[in-house]
Amino acid sequence: MEEMHITGVKVAYYYICPTKLWLFSHDITMEKESELVSLGKLLHETAYRGHREVQIEDIAIDFVRRGEKIEVHEIKKSRKMEKAHRMQVLYYLYYLKKRGIDAIGVIDYPKARRREYVHLTQEDESEIEAALSDIERIVKGPMPLPKRKGICKKCAYYEFCFGGEDEE
Ligand code: SF4
Repeated sequence: MEEMHITGVKVAYYYICPTKLWLFSHDITMEKESELVSLGKLLHETAYRGHREVQIEDIAIDFVRRGEKIEVHEIKKSRKMEKAHRMQVLYYLYYLKKRGIDAIGVIDYPKARRREYVHLTQEDESEIEAALSDIERIVKGPMPLPKRKGICKKCAYYEFCFGGEDEE
């Protein structure tokens, strides 16, 4: 499979909304997005003081080594986007596996004091590969038209997508 340059955030956005994926991939960012990123960084610094982030080509991950295994950690604010968070971490595990590193994933929700463990299966690998192809197709194509959904009001791109529109 041809190597694609896709970050973990793009994988997560793919599962959240194709419009969001496309806007973010074309460097269209909104102020609220930056605030959310800062909040994420703050949570990260609080929860992982002492651990260094590792940049491997396109992905930036937090890791903790425990014995034989490497744990890839991802810190999230809430569990609302659980599927997207899980796929983001699975992508990191897939990415590392392709480079000969066997790791397990951990999603930390410090506010909820919860921790989810993620293991990459063969089925997950197939899903990731299909998602990567689809991400490339979406990003290279025209902007997908925004479709209103439950999460839109909390999305940084809300004004961009629906500013001025009346609610249904
Ligand atoms: S506001 Fe809704 S449609 Fe627009 S990018 Fe965000 S999630 Fe997607």
